[in-house]
Amino acid sequence: MICADCSTEFAADALSCPGCRRLTHSAELEDLARRAQAAWRVGKFADERALWAESLALLPEDTVQHQRIAARIAEIDGQRAASTGTGESWWRGKAGMGIGPLLLLLLTKGKFLLLGLTKMGTLLTMLASLGVYWAIYGWAFALGLVISIYIHEMGHVAAIRGYGFPAGAPMFIPGFGAFIQMRGVALPPIPDSRIGLAGPLYGLGAALASLGLFYATGRPIWAVIAHFGAMINMFNLIPIWQLDGSRGLRSLTRTQRGMVLAAAGGLWAVLGIPMLGLVALGCAYRMFTKDWEDEPDQQGLMQFLGIMVALALVFVLSAGGAAVTQG
Ligand SMILES: [Zn+2]
Ligand SMILES: [Zn+2]
Repeated sequence: MICADCSTEFAADALSCPGCRRLTHSAELEDLARRAQAAWRVGKFADERALWAESLALLPEDTVQHQRIAARIAEIDGQRAASTGTGESWWRGKAGMGIGPLLLLLLTKGKFLLLGLTKMGTLLTMLASLGVYWAIYGWAFALGLVISIYIHEMGHVAAIRGYGFPAGAPMFIPGFGAFIQMRGVALPPIPDSRIGLAGPLYGLGAALASLGLFYATGRPIWAVIAHFGAMINMFNLIPIWQLDGSRGLRSLTRTQRGMVLAAAGGLWAVLGIPMLGLVALGCAYRMFTKDWEDEPDQQGLMQFLGIMVALALVFVLSAGGAAVTQG
């Protein structure tokens, strides 16, 4: 064979030209890299690994690309080993959940106050009503909220495991719904969004179940649990810091973020739920953070909107049942 660039003669099976180091399979390698990148984006790590392995065979061993790809394959293998090796030890971190939802709600409200984004009156009313419910229902209310939050966290765990990530050690900051990134692994946009929204999705399930139990039994405690469960999960949808909503927006385009902004703002205006006003404000902020994706994530958008609308409905539908007991 003769090199197209430098006219050096070389063996037909050589991976690169000995004269100018031009890669024989550069077009194929580019294609493989593009497909591996696409597999990474949606969290199909087994496919990504296979594509990288294919490209290794086409690369001379003494190249930087070869080293980099070999390192990425080792990283994927390490991830897989860790996810099967650590077993079920993650739940031990849950012992810290005993601090109680009151402290946790105080903490989340504390962040609001620092932000200065919302009306003091609303917050104080919320805290006051929380205190009232606590006084009336005591442990039943506390237990209901803790279980709701636990189910929310289980959503994250299920999604993390679904992608084959190691779900080891305490990953969750109770109540904030944020989890610490696994071993410094940067999550691709789509898995990041799915894992983030899995918490509010499961949380919505818990709130819906509580609302169903309220309709079935007529016992107000279930309405109260549904109401506060919906509120906590709407809080987690605020797309700032490490909150779930922030991850949820990660995979969306700027236009899609605008759609979430419009929906949250509209729901806020119509239903008057302050938490959705904060979600809208967060979305407005994320219209300018320049961390949006260029490729639309239709499923992520639908998930965000669906969860938000359903939580707002549960919040409104449970308000009546919750209010009866307060007066
Ligand atoms: Zn050459
Ligand atoms: Zn969460």
